Amino acid sequence: RSKRRGRGQITVYSREIAQEMKRATQLEQALRNAIINDAVDVHFQPIVRLSDGAPVGFEALARWNDPDLGFVSPAVFVPLAEERGFIDALSETLLRKAAEAALSWPRELFLSFNLSSAQLMDPTTTETTLATLARVGLDPHRLELEITETAVMTSADTAARIITQLRKAGVRISLDDFGTGQSSLGRLRDFTFDKVKIDQAFISRITSDRPSEHIVRAIITMCQGLDLDVVAEGIEEKADADKLKELGCGMGQGYYYGKPVDGNATLRYLQEHYRDFLMIERG
Ligand code: C2E
Ligand code: MG
Ligand code: MG
Ligand code: MG
Repeated sequence: RSKRRGRGQITVYSREIAQEMKRATQLEQALRNAIINDAVDVHFQPIVRLSDGAPVGFEALARWNDPDLGFVSPAVFVPLAEERGFIDALSETLLRKAAEAALSWPRELFLSFNLSSAQLMDPTTTETTLATLARVGLDPHRLELEITETAVMTSADTAARIITQLRKAGVRISLDDFGTGQSSLGRLRDFTFDKVKIDQAFISRITSDRPSEHIVRAIITMCQGLDLDVVAEGIEEKADADKLKELGCGMGQGYYYGKPVDGNATLRYLQEHYRDFLMIERG
């Protein structure tokens, strides 16, 4: 009897897997079409200097609103594109759109773009990234690439080579979601970064949870010693910002300063928050 029940469970389980696979394949097809039809969009979230709240750059975040499937999170479709082997096509479209938008921002502002882990294992990433910038006409010095610790650690040699080549071309490298990945601090010595982004999991608890505050304090101190810039992610309240300033954190990002918005809304944001933006735009 227990055997039969066991088999029953297996049947239910595999039906779920089959449904899951069917849904993934539907998503894949819709996503491939969206890329071809240029329907995947990119939004921008300000990264600010904490001392005065002025924007210093924007992070590009992929957005896909499918007419049939509705809003699909990049946390779902980016990994799907990686698994199904077309992350380079997706990423190229996104970088092109993001770089085009950055052309109409003040030159001092950088564009921060997320590189997926699969791209850090692909030796052609340097070439395709720089080619896209050249085609659009965006100076590589204005680009930052966000990578994760886990991605760096899984394919260390290739990743290190890509990072070195891109930095040589003027691109800066930012370590995203710091504190949550699988790395040892010792191994981080082997890679050269420009910036560390402290994961929002620590920031959301910074005013209520002593351990989180101590971890953030330690990361900031470490970065100061290593001469790395620091960004706190996921700042949602004034109290978080005040605490981070007190701890000496240089930059911040989060809903408190601005949610990710489309290209036009980003220009309106700049008109409100960036000194002399109109003057610069009108030459
Ligand atoms: P991420 O790179 O760590 O991006 C930060 C995420 O936190 C974004 O979610 C952003 O909308 C969200 N966020 C920003 N401020 C706040 C805040 O104050 N509170 C909260 N709760 N969340 C905040 P999003 O846009 O859903 O992106 C999720 C992840 O998907 C990103 O995490 C990144 O890993 C990936 N992703 C997004 N766009 C791209 C892309 O163009 N390429 C690649 N490879 N990955 C991308
Ligand atoms: Mg990021
Ligand atoms: Mg992040
Ligand atoms: Mg994240």
